[in-house]
Amino acid sequence: MVCVYSGSGEVARMDSREQRFSGGSGAAPAARATHAYLVGGGIASLASAAYLIRDAGLAGNQIHIFEELDVVGGSLDGEGTPQSGFVIRGGRMFTDEAYTCTNDLLSFIPSLQDPGRTVRQEMQAFNERIRSHSRSRLVRGGKKVDVSTFELSNADRLDLLQLMIQSEESLGAKRIEDFFQPSFFKTNFWYMWATTFAFQPWHSVVECKRYVLRFIQEVPRFATLGGVKRTPFNQYDSIVLPLTTWLKHQGVQFQMNSQVTALDFQHGPHGKGVERLRYTHNGTETEIVLKEGDVVFVTNGSMTAASSLGSMTSPPRLETKATGGSWALWESIAERNSDFGKPAVFSSNVDESKWLSFTATLHDPTFFALMEEFTGNVAGTGGLVTLTDSNWLMSVVLPHQPHFINQPDGVNVFWGYGLFPDERGNFVDKKMSECTGADILVELWRHLRFDAHLPVMLETANCIPCMMPFITSQFMPRTLGDRPQVRPTGTTNLAFIGQFCEIPDDVVFTVEYSVRSAQTAVYSLFTTGKDVSPLYKGQHDLGILLNAMKTMLH
Ligand code: FAD
Repeated sequence: MVCVYSGSGEVARMDSREQRFSGGSGAAPAARATHAYLVGGGIASLASAAYLIRDAGLAGNQIHIFEELDVVGGSLDGEGTPQSGFVIRGGRMFTDEAYTCTNDLLSFIPSLQDPGRTVRQEMQAFNERIRSHSRSRLVRGGKKVDVSTFELSNADRLDLLQLMIQSEESLGAKRIEDFFQPSFFKTNFWYMWATTFAFQPWHSVVECKRYVLRFIQEVPRFATLGGVKRTPFNQYDSIVLPLTTWLKHQGVQFQMNSQVTALDFQHGPHGKGVERLRYTHNGTETEIVLKEGDVVFVTNGSMTAASSLGSMTSPPRLETKATGGSWALWESIAERNSDFGKPAVFSSNVDESKWLSFTATLHDPTFFALMEEFTGNVAGTGGLVTLTDSNWLMSVVLPHQPHFINQPDGVNVFWGYGLFPDERGNFVDKKMSECTGADILVELWRHLRFDAHLPVMLETANCIPCMMPFITSQFMPRTLGDRPQVRPTGTTNLAFIGQFCEIPDDVVFTVEYSVRSAQTAVYSLFTTGKDVSPLYKGQHDLGILLNAMKTMLH
């Protein structure tokens, strides 16, 4: 029996394999017969759907997004209430130059706050008004660190230059710690680098090289985070919500609580193609048989797979990759197709890919007032503040308030994270991974020497920790072939999108990479006459290169 859903989002059953997917009931007639099935409801799929509509001429009701959760957005999340506490697993930074695909996407999505403007225009206006200029990037011993020098030695500088010119092939699966001297990891440069991008010494040196080149224009303003652009609210409210609203308005079909469990392939004269997509919806196993011209986009792997929340009084649990279908689907198709990458390279070392973030909802203004005075930055203008002597290597960000559309006056929200969750705190004698939300706040506030205010600040605070076992899985050392091509050679109707497909030169752990994968997938599977937005290469601009070198000499 073949089950399809009818276009209203409901699952309907069909009795014959001849009866194929029927499109949306009552929706506008499709411009062409093609249907696109998108696995995952993160920004990679949402962007793919937008480009399928804008550039490939598909009607919304020909596009079907399968998401195993009951919410879209994937890693671009943001939820909660003042009473239950707000949660963002992450706070995202953008830049103008490096985010050409994202900027393109957001330039045709109407803002929800001001429908006369696009999301891009809304973001630009916000960043004109609230400019990033950190006055307190690093803190040690409860005091601001002078970051006017990167503290690089000549050997470190030479290593960085060498990294920029050495080929990815010759670097292979080396780790960052294989390339630099131990003293490099104690410099201001490393503390800022590691915590801005969440790099660990054991991560891929190839990815580190890509980041150096991709963000070379940021080096002179690295200590102040001066080039960082932000969204007015958290990225769910400012990006996912307007984008999803626009897609729904176009008729895109969102199949929630639907986990794609398998893809069956058939070999034809033109190559290998997906012939059947299997999924479970509310516990019922269902399948879709593709017809000529249909395409499947798969978000393979996810940095927030198996993430779990704790509370003010309980730590989060460490889940395994068996939670959810993200790794399982990739494993199942890669097992029989050697050109679909090696998921185990990314998913099999949780100790090296996990860390913990936390979101605190505060009903008392004391912490924000103390922090604004200490840092010299009004909330929203500073960005990451990193405690370099924290055993957990903890950083916090006080975003512009309100950070949530439904956040009332008198409530403040901030976010933070620790790169070493298995270390014991300097003040709280527990591993960060064993800490409740309250423990984490105590550790943070004692580092900042705010001890005297602890009781009043804790009384109405609600800090929700979040464990993410695979948060830096995309940074694990890899070689060519470990990630599938966006459009694997020899396949007819399949594309891989998201953070674990191969895109030359671009950097993972970014929204940009997922949007670029979406553009690449759409433009390679359909004749659109469009080119993928050019990848900004600051290293080819002599002025940028010289400015970066000059800063590294300080
Ligand atoms: P995901 O968001 O992981 O989405 C995948 C979706 O697919 C998920 O919803 C999952 O449930 C679903 N799914 C998976 N498998 C299946 C299946 N078999 N069936 C059905 N559904 C499935 N980016 C920046 O640009 N700048 C930053 O500063 C930044 N900081 C970050 C900080 C943190 C803490 C986090 C978590 C992310 C950060 N990012 C940042 C990264 C950015 O958020 C991600 O790169 C991007 O959101 C990934 O989107 P995606 O669609 O590729 O994948």
